Amino acid sequence: MHGELFKALCTFCKHRFPWNDDLSVDASCPFCGLPGGMRPDVVWFTEMPYQMGRINGLLSEADLFVSIGTSGHVYPAAGFVTEARGHGARTVELNLEPSEGASEFDDAVYGPATEIVPAFVERILSGQH
Ligand SMILES: [Zn+2]
Repeated sequence: MHGELFKALCTFCKHRFPWNDDLSVDASCPFCGLPGGMRPDVVWFTEMPYQMGRINGLLSEADLFVSIGTSGHVYPAAGFVTEARGHGARTVELNLEPSEGASEFDDAVYGPATEIVPAFVERILSGQH
């Protein structure tokens, strides 16, 4: 949803492609050949994340929605819990502290992710929900 740091995006022709070297403003696009339009293929603030249609489809089909380690401040991701819940998913928050959208979660566990995520996964795998 947020792109890939080891890819580049040409703002002129919109091609995305692997890019493992430094990216300068002088770099030319290997597809359209134009210089000055290359940038990391990552989503920056105010830009719409990638694959929102696919994400919304998955949110509408999910039985379980788990949010891990987020402030819940940044949309559209901050609204995913409401969307999943609206389609009937059980919602669980695993976080250091209650997020902005904490009231949207059916269950919550607060603590360090290194402790609470493995414990949650163990509970799910053992059939305890
Ligand atoms: Zn290009």
